[in-house]
Amino acid sequence: MSGLLLQSPAKVNLFLKILNKRADGYHNIVTLFERVDLCDEIFLDSNKIGDIRIFCNHPHVPTGPKNLAYKAVRMLQKDFRITEGVDIRINKRIPVAAGLAGGSSNAATTLLGLNRLWGLRLGSKKLLFYARQIGSDVPFFLYNCSWALGQGRGDVIKKINIRTKLWHILVIPRIKMYSWKVYGGLKLKLTKKDDDVNILIHHLRKNNLEEARRQLVNDLETSIIELCPRLEKIREKLKLLNAQNAMFSGSGPCVFGMTDSEKDGKTMAVILRKRFNQVFVVRTL
Ligand code: ATP
Repeated sequence: MSGLLLQSPAKVNLFLKILNKRADGYHNIVTLFERVDLCDEIFLDSNKIGDIRIFCNHPHVPTGPKNLAYKAVRMLQKDFRITEGVDIRINKRIPVAAGLAGGSSNAATTLLGLNRLWGLRLGSKKLLFYARQIGSDVPFFLYNCSWALGQGRGDVIKKINIRTKLWHILVIPRIKMYSWKVYGGLKLKLTKKDDDVNILIHHLRKNNLEEARRQLVNDLETSIIELCPRLEKIREKLKLLNAQNAMFSGSGPCVFGMTDSEKDGKTMAVILRKRFNQVFVVRTL
């Protein structure tokens, strides 16, 4: 079989509640993942020399063992004693280290791709086993769905059937935001409910977007703003432009808001691109 060309999508979190800290250092969360149509392209091709070679058009993406796609290949090579190597060409479109989980998506896409390329016939349980070892956000991308609930550390996935497609505007400021710092700055409150996500899902299913907007939550927000107060200004700017309930995706720094239509999103993008060079209008995939 010759190479495979695959799409590796980004995600945003419309809901992210932190429940508690676990003994293993991670946090238990409840999150609603939304897959969006901002995608990297990944081309996978076997090589006979046995090496894992990564080529990427983005200078900040590691091309060695630190690349999450590399980790995916390495685990399969080891466990299935595969002598073939693989060339991975990543055409990066998803902003790096933005809270959009581009690296996790690349790893999941690579697992799915190698399963086909090498004819491994791995079922979903086995693929999940590998995905979880790579990172908390990887399992979501194994599922072919637009929406999913993430529990545990975000790695326990339940597909959610919502037909509504949303438009969003994304702004990615040039700020480095490390997830470990954001989680480190969390001040956990004792009374946390995890059931409100069902209210959000209900309104999304009914296409009650006004109501849905009121249920959007990101518990990491205070910590993100404390680390970088300037991000609050960007959020306010989006709100002024009528991007309702602008919020952060994951641990940021991506700020995003819902827009009523593609046209509205594109109009906002024209204004925002005067100040920010990474602005995208995306839709639920
Ligand atoms: P998350 O929300 O899961 O924390 P993120 O969107 O904040 O993810 P990524 O774009 O996945 O961040 O990248 C985070 C870091 O991971 C980068 O700084 C980069 O060094 C490293 N990385 C490893 N593999 C990849 C990859 N395939 N694509 C992008 N970054 C990668």
